[in-house]
Amino acid sequence: MFFRVCALRLRTSASSSLLCSSVGFQQFLSPPLHNTTTITSMSSKVAVVTGGNKGIGKAIVQALCKEFQGDVYLTARDEGRGQEAKASLSAAGLKVHFHQLDINDAGSITRAADYFKDKYGGVDVLVNNAGIAFKVADTAPFSQQAEVTLRTNYFATRDMLTHFLPLVKAGGRVVNVSSFVSVRSLNMCSPELQSRFRSDDISEDELTQLMTRFVDLAKDDRHKQGGWPETAYGVSKIGVTTLSMIHARRLTKERPNDQILVNACCPGWVRTDMAGPKAPKSPEEGAVTPVYLALLPAGASQPHGKFVSDKTVQTW
Ligand code: NDP
Repeated sequence: MFFRVCALRLRTSASSSLLCSSVGFQQFLSPPLHNTTTITSMSSKVAVVTGGNKGIGKAIVQALCKEFQGDVYLTARDEGRGQEAKASLSAAGLKVHFHQLDINDAGSITRAADYFKDKYGGVDVLVNNAGIAFKVADTAPFSQQAEVTLRTNYFATRDMLTHFLPLVKAGGRVVNVSSFVSVRSLNMCSPELQSRFRSDDISEDELTQLMTRFVDLAKDDRHKQGGWPETAYGVSKIGVTTLSMIHARRLTKERPNDQILVNACCPGWVRTDMAGPKAPKSPEEGAVTPVYLALLPAGASQPHGKFVSDKTVQTW
């Protein structure tokens, strides 16, 4: 149903690009400047990266600026940090655009979604990179860590996809930055939970209920009894990986001809503010697998609905 709505929207946007020639006719009737701009943007491809102001996200933006044939948007929750990152990439000679986007803010998500729908008729590449992690040494209670971590990494990423997946154009690529920790944490779940996360029939609602249950159990320190591991970050990324698989299956079913590929990935252990200075990979190296998935060539049918690390599909 959800995807039927988007198919409808896509048909509308496809027909509006077909209408370019008749818009040409309309230009005789109305001032041309605005229309010309709209037509140019509508025919441009566009890539959007969340959490693009630093770390792996910024390196993904940088690589896309070099390799993606179209407009690249660095998005960030903080306008100042986003503009600063944009300026540093521009200073290196790259052409990059900026749009504010806080994935925890529903208004910010809808404003951005409307912007890309109006200016480009949708998006061609979406990289959900934004994420948070408490430091190991953080003394915040586990219940709080569970609530806060899942709020951004799972629930806000899901909100992004609720609004942006219908905007993904035919041939589009969606990359959700998860983590190898999702696989490790999956293996620490009870057999019952593991079988649900690995099943082909888990729905987005069921997954969301499971994520909510983890947060609720963690409030009373009962998550271990409930079969969950002692890692809020790991559980949040189980959610991201499983959600990617659910969306891939749904797209295959509901938009079979659109050849959209959705995958989750691990960037590796990367030197960023999140992972610290001892990690072996540079942000540029961490961007390699997400960018590979974002730029899977037209006509490719795989990987789709997979968890990918080092450009290789991993066992889930
Ligand atoms: P950083 O902490 O360096 O960067 C995280 C980015 O996400 C920042 O731009 C941050 O913005 C942004 N962000 C956080 N919350 C929000 C929000 N609500 N809305 C928009 N942006 C937000 O982390 P990394 O670059 O290391 O991590 C990027 C992704 O890679 C994450 O999803 C992480 O879980 C994943 N990952 C990282 C690994 C590593 O070794 N580094 C390993 C495996 C996965 P701000 O600057 O405003 O805080």
